[in-house]
Amino acid sequence: MILAPGFPGVAFGTIDDGDGRSDLVSRTAISAALGISEDWATVHQTHSNRVVLAVGAGGHGAADGLVTKVLGLPLAVATADCVPVAIVGDSVVAIVHAGWRGVAAGIVHAAVDAMGTEPKRAVIGPHIGPCCYEVGDEVIAAVGGHAAKTRWGSQSVDLAKAIVAQLNGIETHTVNFCSREDARFASHRENGTPRRQVSVAWL
Ligand SMILES: [Zn+2]
Repeated sequence: MILAPGFPGVAFGTIDDGDGRSDLVSRTAISAALGISEDWATVHQTHSNRVVLAVGAGGHGAADGLVTKVLGLPLAVATADCVPVAIVGDSVVAIVHAGWRGVAAGIVHAAVDAMGTEPKRAVIGPHIGPCCYEVGDEVIAAVGGHAAKTRWGSQSVDLAKAIVAQLNGIETHTVNFCSREDARFASHRENGTPRRQVSVAWL
């Protein structure tokens, strides 16, 4: 697991940590390592802008963001190039799965709204960097700009920048590992893998 300095209730998994949403051996190991409950709140991810308020563990239907005010309830999403984003306040926490479709639909903004007015800080986890995320014009337009260049000189998009824009000035830290280049992470773009890494946030 990768911990973000200053975010004691956030952890970003690697491919070797496994997908603790469905793999209960992985979930037990991750929970033990982090000292958190094995009873996680999860969602069925669909690249939407739907955020659910979780008051207990278990599946919460089709959504791409989870918010809770329940102390000790872990919220989990999984990614393989898409961006995991955790947003934390003193008494509320959110986690979001944000690919370009979710960003275009406003998932990050929806999560911030669902958390209320409490001051917040955010951390963006490992995802495919603009170095490797070649996209067409339609993706640039859909996420509101943030065009960049890949290492090989073609057009790409910087999803982290698009997400920072939706965070409305919230202080944001980024864990800058590119999931496509760094073998610790599953990358759908790299090899079409069905494997995922989980990101977990809790109060
Ligand atoms: Zn890269």
